[in-house]
Amino acid sequence: MSRVTQFLGQAEIGERVKAVACAIRADAGPDVPVHLVGVLKGAFIFMADLMREIGGPVSCDFIAVSTYAGTVSTGQVQILKDLDRSIEGRYVVVVEDIVDTGLTLSYLQDVFRTRSPGSLKTACLLSKPSRRRVDVPVEYVGFTIDDRFVVGYGLDFDEQYRNLPFIGVVGED
Ligand code: 5GP
Repeated sequence: MSRVTQFLGQAEIGERVKAVACAIRADAGPDVPVHLVGVLKGAFIFMADLMREIGGPVSCDFIAVSTYAGTVSTGQVQILKDLDRSIEGRYVVVVEDIVDTGLTLSYLQDVFRTRSPGSLKTACLLSKPSRRRVDVPVEYVGFTIDDRFVVGYGLDFDEQYRNLPFIGVVGED
């Protein structure tokens, strides 16, 4: 495995996760059940931390989609595992690891909209706006970053590095 150079540390990530969680709860209102929909696999660590920072009633579900092979986007989205429960009428927040071209999220938002949620918002840990190919609404963004392929805190490169507690770049000094 190659060396990973950190550029977002654990403490920094923790602070932003808290801030995003506070904003989600503030927008939802104190007693509204928030239903988090995590996009596997990249979002699972962000989702676990985010969920514990949102006070009040919170439930979760997961959807798995096919994503990159290596570092190249195919632009093709395929649902590998669908949600377990209906989102009809629920206050849904989609939880994504990173919005790059926006194609995955845009596809998922279209799918979820057809299922009549009461509200549909999106939280992503990272956003690379310079790479966007579709204009997709994201209400909560942890960090806006430049066009670099990042790993750690749930994000992988060929299934490695998800366990790093920080976010970094492979093989850079
Ligand atoms: P998009 O459809 O927005 O181009 O890409 C979405 C997915 O591609 C993300 O959910 C993530 O799984 C993957 N991805 C995009 N950029 C990166 C990156 O810098 N690092 C990693 N590990 N995955 C990325």
